[in-house]
Amino acid sequence: MRIAVLKERAPGENRVALTPETAKKFIALGATVAVEEGAGSGAAILDADYAQAGAEVVPAANAVKDADIVMGVQAPDVALLQGAKPGAWVAATFDPFRNRELVEAYAAAGYEALSMEFMPRITRAQSMDVLSSQSNLAGYKAVITAANEYGRAFPMMMTAAGTVQAAKVFVMGVGVAGLQAIATAKRLGAQVSATDVRSATKEQIQSLGAKAVFVEDVEGIEGEGSGGYATEMSEEYQKAQAELVSSHISKQDIVITTALIPGKPAPRLISDTQIATMKPGSVIFDLAVAQGGNVEGSSPDEAVEKHGVKIVGYSNTAGHLAADASALFARNLYNFLSAFWDEEAGKPVLDEEIGDAVRLTQGGKVVNEKLA
Ligand code: NAD
Repeated sequence: MRIAVLKERAPGENRVALTPETAKKFIALGATVAVEEGAGSGAAILDADYAQAGAEVVPAANAVKDADIVMGVQAPDVALLQGAKPGAWVAATFDPFRNRELVEAYAAAGYEALSMEFMPRITRAQSMDVLSSQSNLAGYKAVITAANEYGRAFPMMMTAAGTVQAAKVFVMGVGVAGLQAIATAKRLGAQVSATDVRSATKEQIQSLGAKAVFVEDVEGIEGEGSGGYATEMSEEYQKAQAELVSSHISKQDIVITTALIPGKPAPRLISDTQIATMKPGSVIFDLAVAQGGNVEGSSPDEAVEKHGVKIVGYSNTAGHLAADASALFARNLYNFLSAFWDEEAGKPVLDEEIGDAVRLTQGGKVVNEKLA
């Protein structure tokens, strides 16, 4: 069983799908591990660290030679897989709804694409869930970046020269990233409020010491679909939410938006008209900017200024914490593959519940029901 890891090719992608720690663990399971030269450089991992862990550090041309499994953060182009075994598995993120062509190419080439974004949200798969591990770091980084862009302090300070007021931070969308954003803003001393469409989050917001700002008395406000994900909301709800946001947002200094709906563009939460009501010098961090954006006018990796308000957002927020993000991503992959390791076969054998959920292609076909 040979596991191979390529250096990521996407621009700005500093993460890597294997760390020396997980290399050692895969080797302990009986696998051989090959890693392309320089694969860890963006995450502060040296080739020598991989070699010391027992991995083979190989030049690009041989990186996937004879591999049974290729691991990546972002799925590599099919051309880079030449030399891997026929039917090899590729475990990575595929962004399958928006990257249909890549999925088709994997099917045509006969590889088995395992999409880590499709990991089911069940208790035993929590440690395998890359969306959670990366969102958590992204929520933290969003607040740190917004604090950096903000020309004032976060905590209240009473000084001899007078008092500095605490910043008011509003978090929209309280999933994994939103919860970490609330916790981080609280730690920095801000006054924090938050909202979501899933009513279950109200208690979570309050338990972190933040104020819950919620649409009340509108039908169908549960907002929760399968797997704990949000559903698209009714027009009536969206109108009520827009009114609530308008009255709240004008008093905020920092807004962090994190709202996503699987398979759909990110919901629009803040309009240009609403931005115009905010105080000059306020900052909005749009964590959903790469999925179409929650904020009108936001643009990936660019600081946009509108009505005196700075709007920022990264196309790859977790990638800005590449060392931690790689460590967690690599552990997610190890937890996934090792959980199914069949000692006799000397390789992982996936079960139906998780295998069928994550497998996009097999036997030359696209097989995932979400892509049907
Ligand atoms: P997500 O990244 O899909 O979305 C971010 C948040 O935006 C969600 O809370 C969503 O409800 C919210 N949102 C969507 N539309 C909105 C709108 N119009 N206005 C305001 N908010 C809106 O969410 P996530 O971080 O993946 O988490 C979703 C849920 O799944 C959470 O309850 C989380 O705890 C749970 N979860 C479970 C597991 C597991 O059991 N293995 C793993 C990860 C997450």
